[in-house]
Amino acid sequence: MPGRTVDNAGIADRLEAFASLLELAEANAYSARAYRRAAETIRGAPIPVADLVRAGRVRELRGIGPGIEARLRELVETGQIAELAELERELAPGLVGLGRYLGLGAKRSVEIARALGVRTPEELRDAAAAGRLGTVPGIGPKTEARLLEALAREAEPRPPRGLVLTRARELVGGIADVLHGEPAGDVRRWRDSCELLAVVCAAPDPSVVLARFAALPQIVAVVEQDTRRAVGVTVEGVPVELVAAEPERFGAALLRATGSAAYVAALEPLPDAADEAAVYGALGLPWCPPELREEPFRGEPPALLEEADIRGDLHCHTTWSDGRASVEEMGRAARARGYEYVAICDHTPAVGAVQGLLPDDVRRQGEEIAAANERLAPFRVLRGIECDILPDGRLDLPDDVLAQLDWVQASVHGGQRMPRREMTERVEEALRNPYVRCLSHPKGRIINRRPENALDLERVFQVALEEGVALEVNGLPDRLDLRGEHVRDAVRAGLEIVCSTDAHSTRALEYMTLSVHTARRGWTTRADVLNTRPLQSILDGRRAPR
Ligand SMILES: [Zn+2]
Ligand SMILES: [Zn+2]
Repeated sequence: MPGRTVDNAGIADRLEAFASLLELAEANAYSARAYRRAAETIRGAPIPVADLVRAGRVRELRGIGPGIEARLRELVETGQIAELAELERELAPGLVGLGRYLGLGAKRSVEIARALGVRTPEELRDAAAAGRLGTVPGIGPKTEARLLEALAREAEPRPPRGLVLTRARELVGGIADVLHGEPAGDVRRWRDSCELLAVVCAAPDPSVVLARFAALPQIVAVVEQDTRRAVGVTVEGVPVELVAAEPERFGAALLRATGSAAYVAALEPLPDAADEAAVYGALGLPWCPPELREEPFRGEPPALLEEADIRGDLHCHTTWSDGRASVEEMGRAARARGYEYVAICDHTPAVGAVQGLLPDDVRRQGEEIAAANERLAPFRVLRGIECDILPDGRLDLPDDVLAQLDWVQASVHGGQRMPRREMTERVEEALRNPYVRCLSHPKGRIINRRPENALDLERVFQVALEEGVALEVNGLPDRLDLRGEHVRDAVRAGLEIVCSTDAHSTRALEYMTLSVHTARRGWTTRADVLNTRPLQSILDGRRAPR
């Protein structure tokens, strides 16, 4: 697609496809990651990357080395990457996607396909239907039966584990854009990990939309098809449902495809209507924000927090620890978003893996922040810290240093596996420190990589309430911590919420969207959120104890 590849999104798509195929080929995992990172940089680049490539300046972008530069030049000049085309021929991504959907690894899928001499998902189905799976070495009658059953199943598609919200939004949003449909499923409810991915289109003639869906580069195989519905899988084996609704029924179809199943079931039977508001109207109900549709609910929804209510970001990093931008760059980027303030919260030494600020660094950073404030006024850069909570509950900086600061986040990084009682006592001790204003990412999980810690939130909420400490909703895509259910408990308990990005770059200030929607999943209103208030409320210190 030479025409499409020259814009930044097109280039990023091709690099991502390359990364996925390198992973399939079980090539160097480092280079797959490097291509993915480069794709992310290019997607966010403010200028046309093709121009930089032509001018020989593309290596000025972060993470683009000579290897990636050579591929980019090939892509810009010829419209394709030869090695990518070859990998696509060799690895049959359609088969791998189908195999992963069936619960097979990439390598095993390719082995089975080779043994059967098939090259496409359709040929694999035919071979399976003809009873040939049993002829493949290593496939006994049991495995054959399981695979046949998986191939035939009409039940709800489910990937082995959810996609992180950013990836799911990009995938579903990209498909919805091309098909002029609406993203639905878990993405529309802003779930932290998305399993049910769906797009709903209003389609007088469904065959056109279904054909375009099947031809999308994101969809490597269609595993189910009906007159007005199809399920396709991505190269990662992730199923995506397409609903091609009759235009006069689009509203009901969107509501159904948005879920959750329990929420929708409690509203059935849904009246047909062209838009969702009309469906609710016919049911005699107010429209319900998708974030609240987890459990059956027929009442009046509260006026949820909006992103426009946020006046500042209270957790971000700079080059003083592991961030990529300077104090002033973060300040300018926050000001450009329309904020009134931003708190610079770099790490302290106990975080380990990266450099942390010693007391003298805190003082010197304070001078840099004061200088930035002279240039950025009336916008305000706050002197903050993300202070590690040591295993015994003490903080990683002495009180006289914390006392100089405008804003102190306390964080557990190492030792997330502590038993419940020790962990809870550790955090409780930190919250008793009079300088701590907010507990960062309280449950410590990394989505798909590290489970939540054993922290007793009920106890922590009680102490936080007594001490006037706020709870963070961390907006990093693989954290989203507190998650929606826990936010709801915190809000019910009367706690103050802080929506933060934990940004390590200026671009990551965008993750406020994820934090806000996660807070909305916890029924948060503007009044619950500290950083919807003016600067003075932040400077006033802890809220009076309850
Ligand atoms: Zn942290
Ligand atoms: Zn942080």
